[in-house]
Amino acid sequence: MEMNLEQYQPWEEEEFKRNVLTTTLDQVKAWARSNSMWPLTFGLACCAIEMMGTGGSHYDLDRFGVIFRASPRQSDLMIVAGTVTKKMGPLLRRLYDQMPEPKWVIAMGSCATAGGPYVKSYSVIKGVDQIVPVDVYIPGCPPNPAALIYGIHKLQEKIRYEAKHGKRVTHT
Ligand code: SF4
Repeated sequence: MEMNLEQYQPWEEEEFKRNVLTTTLDQVKAWARSNSMWPLTFGLACCAIEMMGTGGSHYDLDRFGVIFRASPRQSDLMIVAGTVTKKMGPLLRRLYDQMPEPKWVIAMGSCATAGGPYVKSYSVIKGVDQIVPVDVYIPGCPPNPAALIYGIHKLQEKIRYEAKHGKRVTHT
């Protein structure tokens, strides 16, 4: 059935078009993206062992469409798993810049979130959100695979939420 948009106020017409056409398409794309996330392998310290374990056959991240890639050009998610030193910071940022849009970041563990046990060290960055925007923080030292899977589910929800509401929410 064809809709007659002339019966609506201009703002209603705009809202109608946005909701029915644009937002619906964005939501479909977000649904597809959230179910095929390709993280860049970025293990920096002990948390990376848990991340690798999550990708193994027991926890089987593939079943959620999460497949690790070795190149930032093929990745849309960076899981920062471990201690971010001041020397590593610029390299991390360069790899992030090489990832195509849209892209997301998970800070896995206390170190990536806020410096962790090394918070008083002169050589450690107190949270990766000082370098790149972070979408999801996962607490723990280290977080176990179940926590990482939970964090990925939260990110999937966030991607769909942002597409529905037309805005990006990050923390820097
Ligand atoms: S949060 Fe704990 S387990 Fe993870 S990298 Fe830091 S010290 Fe290691």
